[in-house]
Amino acid sequence: MRSNEYIVLFSILILSLIFQIQCNKRTSYLTVGTQAALEEVAVRETKQKDIRSCVDPLDYAPYDTLLRPLRHIRLNVHFMDSSTGIHNFSEQKGRKYMKTLIANANDRLTRNNKMKLPVNNDTPNLSPQYQYVITPTSKDDDGFFFHQDDELSFFLNKGKDKNNYNRDVIKKYAISDDTILNVFVMPHHPDSLKTGRYKAASTGIALGTSLKLAGLVEQPDKPWNFATLLNHEVGHIFGLRHSWYKNDGCDDTPVHKNCWQPDGTEKCPEPGSNNMMDYNNSQMAITPCQLGKIHKNFSNTSSELRKLVIPSWCDFDGSKTIVVKDQTQWRGSLDLSHNVVIKKGGSLTIKCRVSMAKGSSITVEPGGKLILDHCKIHNDCGEQWNGIQVASSNSEQGEIIYMGEVQIENTTSVKS
Ligand SMILES: [Zn+2]
Repeated sequence: MRSNEYIVLFSILILSLIFQIQCNKRTSYLTVGTQAALEEVAVRETKQKDIRSCVDPLDYAPYDTLLRPLRHIRLNVHFMDSSTGIHNFSEQKGRKYMKTLIANANDRLTRNNKMKLPVNNDTPNLSPQYQYVITPTSKDDDGFFFHQDDELSFFLNKGKDKNNYNRDVIKKYAISDDTILNVFVMPHHPDSLKTGRYKAASTGIALGTSLKLAGLVEQPDKPWNFATLLNHEVGHIFGLRHSWYKNDGCDDTPVHKNCWQPDGTEKCPEPGSNNMMDYNNSQMAITPCQLGKIHKNFSNTSSELRKLVIPSWCDFDGSKTIVVKDQTQWRGSLDLSHNVVIKKGGSLTIKCRVSMAKGSSITVEPGGKLILDHCKIHNDCGEQWNGIQVASSNSEQGEIIYMGEVQIENTTSVKS
């Protein structure tokens, strides 16, 4: 025989061996896609609901980027001007300015800095996992709007006509504010500026799903100066409070003096804060708890804020799989785009809500364990997922344990 023929024979031998091994270790799958199937296949255990599950912001922090992938918040921009048309940017300049500002804000969100406070902290600086996208409402616009209104265009954060908390401009001009975060760029009132006692502060205010920004027109060459102001105000919209206070709901943001710039004095000691939700010259750090609060709102199916996020969790992505190899708990809500596979020796406990993408599945391999602890697994996009696949081999099988009320919804097992 020639050497080529040896190679062919040898390959056939190896292939037939592999085939035999596969036949011997044949794996069969059972689908659990309904409550009835769960009760038939799974072992029921009695356990009270863990009252902390679904609640703690840290259970929503983006430690794992497969579980908490990059989210995109839709934005549009309104430029307010009087009928004279001289108090705000021109259309061309306005578009350019805000595109630069938003790109800079997005860039800063990818460069989350380590917290300076408390001293010697080991707070992780996670990837924030969100960005902004300028979003048109229809094919007739590009997400930028220019309004002329002598009554509602100006911003005043001082004096008897103070209107920073007033929502009238939003009520009149917001567009698609159920799905798009509306940003209003407003000039300070020219009459107040003329007095010399009113300062054109760089300031903003978050009101519902809209926000007002002021001071931009007065600094027309420095859009990047306002990038962290945008990030700060969007932080407010998604549930963050000022972090120099004690009651901001986060243990990783210490109380401090809230100095713009520390000078080593007792009043403003070094180091100062660099947190995004304080007033300081950096605003470049967001803690895991703060990010958890934001992502908790992304995940809250009853929150109006979730609707501002592009629902990328509706798209199945088979290029990656969420593999569970050890003891894992999912205590916060999740919206997944990938299949989930629990390997031999791995154990996954689900304690909250999980949305599975269309056509995706959770596979429990032989020797793997899935624990459904007072949870809900569904598809939040009006589509169907393929349910839980429990695998069995000759010697072993996947195991499901459930406790309390477990909802398995929107699977292909349910005939519609
Ligand atoms: Zn603020």
